[in-house]
Amino acid sequence: MNASSDLRQRTLDHVWHPCTQMKDHEWLPMIPIASAEGAWLTGTDGKRYLDAVSSWWTNIFGHRHPSIVQRIKEQLDTLDHVIFAGFTHEPAVKLAEKLCALTQLDRCFYADNGSSAVEVALKMSAHYWRNSGKPEKTRFISLSNGYHGETLGALAVGDTGLYRDSYSPLLMQPVFVPSPDCFDRAPGTSWEDHSRRMFAHMEFALEQHAKDTAAVIVEPLVQCAGGMRMYHPIYLTMLREACTRHGVHLIVDEIATGFGRTGMMWASDWAKVSSRTPQPIRGDFMCLSKGLTGGTLPLAAVMTTNAIYEAFYDDYASYKAFLHSHSYTGNPLACAAALATLEVFESENWLARNRELGHLMWMRVSELVSHPHVAEVRQQGLILAIELARNPRKREAYPAHERRGLRVYQHALEKGVLLRPLGNVVYFMPPYVTTTEEVALMAKTAIDGIEIATRDR
Ligand SMILES: *Cc1c(COP(=O)(O)O)cnc(C)c1O
Repeated sequence: MNASSDLRQRTLDHVWHPCTQMKDHEWLPMIPIASAEGAWLTGTDGKRYLDAVSSWWTNIFGHRHPSIVQRIKEQLDTLDHVIFAGFTHEPAVKLAEKLCALTQLDRCFYADNGSSAVEVALKMSAHYWRNSGKPEKTRFISLSNGYHGETLGALAVGDTGLYRDSYSPLLMQPVFVPSPDCFDRAPGTSWEDHSRRMFAHMEFALEQHAKDTAAVIVEPLVQCAGGMRMYHPIYLTMLREACTRHGVHLIVDEIATGFGRTGMMWASDWAKVSSRTPQPIRGDFMCLSKGLTGGTLPLAAVMTTNAIYEAFYDDYASYKAFLHSHSYTGNPLACAAALATLEVFESENWLARNRELGHLMWMRVSELVSHPHVAEVRQQGLILAIELARNPRKREAYPAHERRGLRVYQHALEKGVLLRPLGNVVYFMPPYVTTTEEVALMAKTAIDGIEIATRDR
């Protein structure tokens, strides 16, 4: 037995994979990976794969970026971990300072992963209202087709079909507002007009529910797990204004879109550009994770304002303290990795580069716009999505069980490209270090794969 099939068999014997029907692996071979560098993964059999999805959107500067690797090694030689209650350390403090400066918020609370960061923001928001004499404000408003993670609280505020339905008896019930997703706009309507119009639903929900609502939670601009559906930044400008007016917090979930992915540091920065205001749109909470450590170690941060922090600051006997902890809160290795990642950011103008590379991705697949089974090609910075459909003009989707996206995935793997789709949506979300040649390979592979996958059999 060679190394690959041995690892495959041992995986099937003892491991349970995320987000996977394990039975699929009876016919879809699991891919054992031995090493990774830059935008490339190398299998135990020596085959290489271009990581066009940044390994679930985390490895923003590719794999094993030398300065991030170096920094983790140095940190490991000084301080591995320390309890983060009653104790502090340089990497956690320095990272908090940097994140506050970058987000223009005042406080940083650490968690280990995106879902936990969402839990923290939800708890902190409701607890703020309780501490402020409004204990009835415990509900949340969120968008249809949104995704905020898979722990029970995060899952509850998401709208993720089967993922949510399977656990619905366990979940709190938010107020779901129809998403401003522009895929659904009427022919001839601009993105901006559609997003503006859809805001009426949000305004209505706030009018109805503000009294018992703690916060609105949204993914800014791109609903990533929901199929990379996109909307116009005007919606965020209107939402910020309405949340303030109704006395409801705004939680901006930048877990997937943060750190330059959309061509701005934060996706919510596009609201500033589109509405030409000098002030950026800021949530009362901002959730960060995924790209934070450049895909090396798990870490998340919830950024918030001093106004919120102060509602918790009191004598012990008031029982106002925020009660939430994880064993690995503020882990020094992860904080060091995040600091190194931010330094890579500062080392050159990645935002301009990402916008250029995004434009190149668009040019390379633009021919798909007129493909008979492509309903839309949409893009925001270094996120490019191609939505397949049986009949694009009638907006007739391929039924999920046909698994057209999966066929593209299989073709791409053969060609040495990792293009894991979201249902009928094939997308690129590559590391920022991807070269123009690698973009060409990604694009050609996707175009050929789509041709094969949409041929009827
Ligand atoms: C991935 C994601 C999460 C959850 O993060 P995990 O680290 O996977 O728990 C939350 N919100 C958004 C927008 C995400 O893309």
